Amino acid sequence: MDDVATRVDGNALAGELSEVFSHEMTVARVACGGCGAVEQLGADHAYIQAPGMVLRCCHCDHVLLVMVRAGDRLRVSLAGSRWIDL
Ligand SMILES: [Zn+2]
Repeated sequence: MDDVATRVDGNALAGELSEVFSHEMTVARVACGGCGAVEQLGADHAYIQAPGMVLRCCHCDHVLLVMVRAGDRLRVSLAGSRWIDL
């Protein structure tokens, strides 16, 4: 996926993630479920110009995390991550 103009770094998700996690999530280490690479969440690629927010691996583009707001609820999927180290 070559869409550098539409992505930002994972730090863009900090505000939304602070509603779910009490830790500073941009420095949390995330293991990619696709290639196994481990990076700080803030180093991965965030796509925020969509109905939901998507975080993709900066190495293989695998979806690591998806957040969708629906009214007063925030649904978070970490299905694409092997683990998150808090
Ligand atoms: Zn990966």
